[in-house]
Amino acid sequence: MTFREDLDRAADWVDAYLKRVGELPVAARVEPGAVRARLPESAPEQGEPFEALLRDLDELIVPGLTHWNHPRFYAWFANTGSEPGILAELLIAALNVNNMTWLASPAATELEVTVLDWLAQLLGLPRGWHGHIEDTASTATVAALAAARTRKPGGVVYASEQANFSVEKAARLVGLEFRKVEVDDAFAMRADFDLGDATAVVATVGTTGTTAVDPVPELARRCEEAGVWLHVDAAYAGSAAVCPEFRWCLDGVERADSVVVNPHKWLFTPMDCSALWTRRPEAFHEAFALVPDYLAATEAAVDLKDYGPALGRRFRALKLWAVLRWYGAEGLRALIREHVRLAQLFAALVEAEPGWEVAAPHPFSTVCFRHVEADNFELARAATATGELFVAATKLRGQDVIRLAIGNAQTTEDDIRRSWEVLRSCAIAQ
Ligand SMILES: *Cc1c(COP(=O)(O)O)cnc(C)c1O
Repeated sequence: MTFREDLDRAADWVDAYLKRVGELPVAARVEPGAVRARLPESAPEQGEPFEALLRDLDELIVPGLTHWNHPRFYAWFANTGSEPGILAELLIAALNVNNMTWLASPAATELEVTVLDWLAQLLGLPRGWHGHIEDTASTATVAALAAARTRKPGGVVYASEQANFSVEKAARLVGLEFRKVEVDDAFAMRADFDLGDATAVVATVGTTGTTAVDPVPELARRCEEAGVWLHVDAAYAGSAAVCPEFRWCLDGVERADSVVVNPHKWLFTPMDCSALWTRRPEAFHEAFALVPDYLAATEAAVDLKDYGPALGRRFRALKLWAVLRWYGAEGLRALIREHVRLAQLFAALVEAEPGWEVAAPHPFSTVCFRHVEADNFELARAATATGELFVAATKLRGQDVIRLAIGNAQTTEDDIRRSWEVLRSCAIAQ
């Protein structure tokens, strides 16, 4: 079997998968340990053909997967393994570049800083900031807090009680205390807390619970006065700023110290790709630069290993480049607008139905809603058990709510209407 034939097999598999994914049950229906029990106990002694792997992928693995690339996947934050992203991942593996220093593969570093500059322009972020890619927002926030700590070691990190738990984890990792700040009626962080012992404030643009936007301009003003680092976590909602009408969500970020946006969330880039920008690259450099003898710095070049925790760095810039070029700014805006339109449509269907309510403002593509009498956790479970869709439930101010997060490029109005019918009929059956 030649590599070329296997490449065709893989291509056929991917093409067929993308065509049929919408017909598969969205969430896996397996018990813990069930997949493992069907896998061999040890690796094979003799090499096997790729075909054998593809067969087992279909028989053993796919039935145990939850299909994130399904148009009716609405749990957590939906995302997209888009065509350009899939193709670029193949090229990335073929090149297998390790982009740790400029010298390690010059074009990889230069493409990375270029596409981060492109993306900064698309989002209306300030020009001239340092930008690079981390694997996840979790890592980007660790990096930002490590940079903040160089200015003021040993203080407190403040974030909203609605902040993603990765913020608390990051504070713990860099040895800073973490404190939660209360939110207002719209679930946005209050800006009037005491900054006396703060090392950093993390403001969220698009919280994980309700996609609330913290008051970044006010927090930026206060942090600037107090000499406190402001990191903006716009992992999900930052992507909306490709549309001029959503630029408001990043207001004030130009006065923050760092900001993270995840193209692997709502910008159609496959896992993983998280964009981090800072106007204080020297603080990141102080936190992370170590120059061992075998990795001498190149004059006039940037070594991206000096701005984050990892030494080895994947060539993620290639897939972001592919996505930005394939869709173009107009294509990205059209998808974001469509997702927001679909979210508004869904919210309107909920509002119009007796016994249901929308539970929080929904400025982007995520709607929190509830049936006023039903057990909403049970409802989300029952709707997901149909295989038609995948929604997760959470708690907001002690109330059970269901979250419908739209973010897959294949999601259509039909998907949304069909999903609403499934949810309604599950509530009637309960
Ligand atoms: C998803 C999310 C994160 C975590 O992102 P990872 O890339 O999975 O680490 C952090 N903050 C917010 C607001 C998020 O929505």
